[in-house]
Amino acid sequence: MPHTKSFHLFTFLTGASGTLLFFYQAGIPEISLWKEIVLLSIFTILLYLGEIRLPGGSYLSFISIGLLSSLFIYGLSVANWVVFMTILFSLFKRKGEYIKVFFNFGVFIIMLNATYYTYRFLAGHDFPVRFDEYIPLLSSILVYSFVNILFIFFFHVLSGKQTVQQVYRQIVSNLSNFFVTIVPALLFAVVLKYQPVLGSISLLIIVGLINRNFSKYYTLFNKYEKVSVMASTDEVTGLKNHRYFQEKLSLLLGNAGKEEKVLSVIFIDIDYFKHYNDTFGHPSGDKLLHQLARILKENFRSTDVVARYGGEEFVVIAWDADETAAFNMSERARSQVEAYPFFGADKQPQGKLTISCGIATFPSHTRDKEKLIELADQALYQAKSQGKNKVCIYGQPPPGHQSAL
Ligand code: GH3
Ligand code: MG
Ligand code: MG
Repeated sequence: MPHTKSFHLFTFLTGASGTLLFFYQAGIPEISLWKEIVLLSIFTILLYLGEIRLPGGSYLSFISIGLLSSLFIYGLSVANWVVFMTILFSLFKRKGEYIKVFFNFGVFIIMLNATYYTYRFLAGHDFPVRFDEYIPLLSSILVYSFVNILFIFFFHVLSGKQTVQQVYRQIVSNLSNFFVTIVPALLFAVVLKYQPVLGSISLLIIVGLINRNFSKYYTLFNKYEKVSVMASTDEVTGLKNHRYFQEKLSLLLGNAGKEEKVLSVIFIDIDYFKHYNDTFGHPSGDKLLHQLARILKENFRSTDVVARYGGEEFVVIAWDADETAAFNMSERARSQVEAYPFFGADKQPQGKLTISCGIATFPSHTRDKEKLIELADQALYQAKSQGKNKVCIYGQPPPGHQSAL
């Protein structure tokens, strides 16, 4: 994984800080407390096992209910030990993810410390908490949440897989999920304090039931994802299909308008493809379409949309590319295709298999979607009429390039 150096430093320092805090505070609890630690750990581990997998790869974990209850009722030392036991157990489930587990351990210990000191500061006394002190209780839970979100934020930003905006958006959209597990912590801490057996059993049953139901939806969602990928993919080439192209172009034009970005549409058509089909048959033609699609996909950037427009025509939405940038990309694709040893290419009229490209750019040529497509098509027509195996920009004379015939 392409993690950055700062990511490794961050995860290590978090884990190490948590570990230091743990050794500094946890101590060896009195024998009488061990029963509570063991029971609370089993309870928290069961909550951990009831975590819900959400679409998109994140988890809804109920572990905070166990940890905060331990903290509120028995104080920091017991809560630290419950974290230790639960995290130790999680090593079995997350085999190989030692760094992540170490990081999680650190985060939980730091979160509990933040909660503990917030409460102590606002309430003016040590734990156990008094459940009628609403302001210190709610504030400490908010601090717990805030610290948690902060660590999640830095973890994802520093991992280098997502931009700051992406992480921010994901966190904001998951905020309600997050609080679903934090807010009941307070409620269950009260129930567990006065009715530990009834409280823990009923909570575990609730979590179990939620988990079961969500699993069904998760399976359904996976199917939906597969179907939606199928609905936007072209079977023959594996590229995006026409419908996807149209939807994406509308969306990207909207964004480009707002962000004042440029965008080019590139139409690509195989030269003398009818001849190829007539010579080798349609199945061979299909195979060639597939190979060509792969070459095009590899040639353009991952941010570009490469789609099959229909038949043997392809279209690319080149984001943040003006006509010159789009021209250079298309030229590269054109010369790569020209040089590629396709089966039977030497039997084509020009002795090789080639493509022609037409480019139109937003906003310099037009701001209108339909017009943009039309102008790119016109540019393609121009490339064809100038002898094929060419890239043309709308409204510009074809370049001096002459292919070696
Ligand atoms: P030009 O250089 O002017 O583009 O000539 P062309 O022969 O490529 O002409 P045109 O673009 O009009 O030809 C389209 C041909 O593409 C017709 C058909 O035989 C072939 N074709 C379209 N869709 C498919 C497909 O899905 N599979 C196969 N094998 N051939 C297709
Ligand atoms: Mg065509
Ligand atoms: Mg053609």
